[in-house]
Amino acid sequence: MSLANGRHYLAIPGPSVMPDRVLQAMHRPAPNIYTGQLVDMTATIVADLKQVARTRHEVAIYIANGHGAWEAALCNTLSRGDSILILGTGRFCQGWGEMARGLGIETEIIDFGFRAAVDLDRVAEALRADTSHKIKAVLAVQVDTASSVKNDIPGLRRVLDETGHPALLFSDNIACLAVDEFHMDDWGVDVMVTGCQKGLMVPPGMSFVFFNDKADASRETADLVTPYWDWRPRANPALYYQHFCGTAPTHHLYGLREALDMILHEEGLEAVWHRHKVLAGAVWAAFEAWGTDTDIELNIAGPAERSHAVTTVRMGGVAGTRLRHWLEQQAGITLGIPLGAPEEDANGIFRIGHMGHVNAHMVMGVLGSLQAGMTALRIPHGPGGLDAAAEVIAKG
Ligand SMILES: *Cc1c(COP(=O)(O)O)cnc(C)c1O
Repeated sequence: MSLANGRHYLAIPGPSVMPDRVLQAMHRPAPNIYTGQLVDMTATIVADLKQVARTRHEVAIYIANGHGAWEAALCNTLSRGDSILILGTGRFCQGWGEMARGLGIETEIIDFGFRAAVDLDRVAEALRADTSHKIKAVLAVQVDTASSVKNDIPGLRRVLDETGHPALLFSDNIACLAVDEFHMDDWGVDVMVTGCQKGLMVPPGMSFVFFNDKADASRETADLVTPYWDWRPRANPALYYQHFCGTAPTHHLYGLREALDMILHEEGLEAVWHRHKVLAGAVWAAFEAWGTDTDIELNIAGPAERSHAVTTVRMGGVAGTRLRHWLEQQAGITLGIPLGAPEEDANGIFRIGHMGHVNAHMVMGVLGSLQAGMTALRIPHGPGGLDAAAEVIAKG
């Protein structure tokens, strides 16, 4: 017997829950791709994307997932043989670095491990050691979706400024744009990449590269740039088809228009950030209570270094995998698999995505189902987890 029949909840860190409104906005006949509504709407999408990123600079749109945006960011700024610095805090910045190596870029990696944020002092040390300014870019993830750590992006800008290092600052915000607070211009980020399928609540298939004038200046000399990935015609098209270097992602654009309305023009970006902060706080409170005198713990110890988009949980042994399967089979909830963790830990770990179209009852539903699963599987857990989560939600 299963209690899973009913509306399924994919509580993984992307793709996230897609609002019915977004899906309905996509359900329409093919629009004119030369003139009219689609063309006018694209201009409003570009303007609104910049507002979500808090930038006055440029954005290029790609019909690609996040990996496409990773490659576009590298190809528009770098040349074969250039050096970059990779700041590893889980899995994703390392992945971006592997892609760079595949393109013929030299990568230096500082690995901060699976359970810690970037240590700014160690970054400063590496930049000071680079007296000839060989490092052309510093790559960071604001949120690493594997470890659920949140890195200090404005802190990295400070370190670059204090060391007088001219490298570009790249930030991967694929997991956390429109979830965790972010200000591209005020924080001095030169290149930011994101995708449509996490905080932006649209089915996977579009990604975005935001870049400022300093980054665009390196486009002049970047020998990795290719006609398809070139960000210039995409950001400033003379003809509409240049926006996408071919046919527009017509239906995704309608979905994105709807999602941006929900985020910017209805709820408001600050309210969206706040909602995610409270919901993440409820998740943390539950696990902190369940972790009293048990093996359960959050992967990231310090609240300031935890993302509001995703939470990585540790339970030891094989409890994480068993609980994940129980929730899928008995409760209609799919949790995120472990990623990037040392192999011996992996079966104790799972991740909960709480990004995008997620509200209080959904988070309480996941937490209540987790408690039922732990009870059914006799996984030891401290008392009061649901009470603690409800308390956080009650305070708002
Ligand atoms: C999801 C994610 C990616 C990869 O995005 P894809 O769309 O799967 O290519 C990269 N970086 C971060 C931080 C992510 O969360």
